[in-house]
Amino acid sequence: MTFLSSTFHSPRPNLRIRQTLRLLVHNSLPPPLTHNHRLLSSSSSKSQKSMSASSNTNIPKATPDRASEIRESLAEIRARIAAATEATETPGSGLSFNGKTRKLVAVSKYKPSSDILVCYECGQRDFGENYVQELVDKAKELPPEIQWHFIGTLQSNKSKLLASVPNLHTVQTVSSLKIANALHKALPSNRTSPLNVLLQINTSGEDSKSGLPPLTLSSLDPNRPQLSELQTLAKHIITSCPNLRLQGLMTIGALDLSLHANAAEQNADFERLKETRECLERWLEKEFPGDDGDDELKRKSWGDESTGRLLLSMGMSSDFEAALKAGSDIVRVGTGIFGGRKTKEETKNAPSS
Ligand SMILES: *Cc1c(COP(=O)(O)O)cnc(C)c1O
Repeated sequence: MTFLSSTFHSPRPNLRIRQTLRLLVHNSLPPPLTHNHRLLSSSSSKSQKSMSASSNTNIPKATPDRASEIRESLAEIRARIAAATEATETPGSGLSFNGKTRKLVAVSKYKPSSDILVCYECGQRDFGENYVQELVDKAKELPPEIQWHFIGTLQSNKSKLLASVPNLHTVQTVSSLKIANALHKALPSNRTSPLNVLLQINTSGEDSKSGLPPLTLSSLDPNRPQLSELQTLAKHIITSCPNLRLQGLMTIGALDLSLHANAAEQNADFERLKETRECLERWLEKEFPGDDGDDELKRKSWGDESTGRLLLSMGMSSDFEAALKAGSDIVRVGTGIFGGRKTKEETKNAPSS
């Protein structure tokens, strides 16, 4: 099992080509205008050189102790993901054959670029950030092969700045027409692939959490006069935002359930997100079944391109194993890799490991 590109099964063959294309586009961009443009502006004619992480000489190196601490934590998280995933996929179920991948997003908010680089050098490619400016600044000085995930609350006036990051891979927290439209319009025309979006669902119903209400089987009643908010947003993205790809659903979930996670017990947030996916997929299959191409696979305008399903992003440091067992495709782990975060607000929410 390899961890290249931070997925857990072999990536699709055209992935390398796509990454190379993205890289070429990235390197042909004009230098950014801010003060923070060291890597791009100094290496635009030396694209080969910027491909190796060791050329990022402007980023201070992590101390040897810090580097080995991060490497150990990352290795441990990967081993636990592999174990939880293998336990789920019983031989013969076919799951490991249809390209199902589990993605680890390393949540690096408040952590320095030098920490990220340590993970990058271990093959980690997906990183998650909660603040637009922080993501933008880090993306400028770190390798362009990184796939950035935005996982914070997004204000529409920051969409343009966020969308300007060429290797922004996914925005996991879309929950309004306004944000979807703002992102769609802000994406530069030289992007080589659509921006993946996950719709955030407020599975715990807490006022403090953003996201759309979950769906239940009753919400699929054909006699219901109106579409739910989630259906409306999904339909809008598919029909009116061709720069976006509706790839799946995301939840944060109640902290309480997360902290007392027990792999043997069902977590209500995970179950609600699964039911919501089930409902939305059934409805989308009818509304937007996709073109019947020459190939056997229908080309759908939504979902993961290799499996045709909506991906689930659920599970953090305290409950990612339970989430994987419940069927999560994407886990977002911060503390478990980088240790506790310093700010008051965050240490309150995420006790250090
Ligand atoms: C901070 C954060 C995480 C990571 O949380 P940890 O408990 O540190 O693993 C995951 N998802 C979201 C949305 C976050 O804001």
